[in-house]
Amino acid sequence: MEGAITVRLAVYPGSFDPVTNGHIDILEKSSKIFDEIIVAVIHNVTKKALFSLDERVKLIEESTRHLSNVRVDAFSGLLANYLEDKQACAIIRGLRTVTDFEYEMHMAMMNKKLIPNIDTMFFMSDSQYTFISSSAVKEAALLGGDVGSLVPPVVKTGLEEKMMNDG
Ligand code: ADP
Repeated sequence: MEGAITVRLAVYPGSFDPVTNGHIDILEKSSKIFDEIIVAVIHNVTKKALFSLDERVKLIEESTRHLSNVRVDAFSGLLANYLEDKQACAIIRGLRTVTDFEYEMHMAMMNKKLIPNIDTMFFMSDSQYTFISSSAVKEAALLGGDVGSLVPPVVKTGLEEKMMNDG
C-alpha cells in the first residue's frame, strides 16, 4: 500500500540458558540493521534448562536495556507460526565456528521450506566472543570459575544465586 510504513522486524530465537556476551554482541550488530528485534526465548520441553523461561526472559531484558529496539518474548511451538504471527521479515542466528554451520544450515533450510518468504540472516560475533557458549559458561560457573567476562553482570549474579541454592 502506498505510503504504508514497513517495519523491518526480525526474530532472534534461541534457548539463551543463560544469555551470554556472545548473544549480546549478535544483538548489538543486528539491532543496527533491523528496526525492531524480538528475542524469542524457546520453551523446550525436551531440553532441561538451568534457568526457567521467566528467568531467561528477565536476564535478557536487563542485559539489553541499552538497545531500545530490542524486546524479549517467550514462545513455544513452531517458529514458522510465530514469525508469521509477528510479521517478521527475517530470522537472526549467530555463527561461531564451522561446527555451528552445519546445524544452522539445516535449520535455516527447514525454516525456509516452512515459511519461504522469510530468510535466516547470520551474524558472526567478534573474535573475543566466538568461544563463548551458554553450556560452557554454566559448566565453568557451577565448578566455581569466574565467568564475569563472559556474561552480563546480572547473569553472573544469577549464576551465583543458582550455585548457592544448589549447594
Ligand atoms: P539454541 O539452543 O537455539 O542454539 P542458543 O542460546 O545456544 O540457542 O543460541 C542461539 C543462537 O545464538 C544460535 O544461533 C547460536 O549459534 C548463537 N550464539 C550463541 N553463542 C554465540 C556466540 N558466542 N557468538 C555467536 N553466536 C552465538
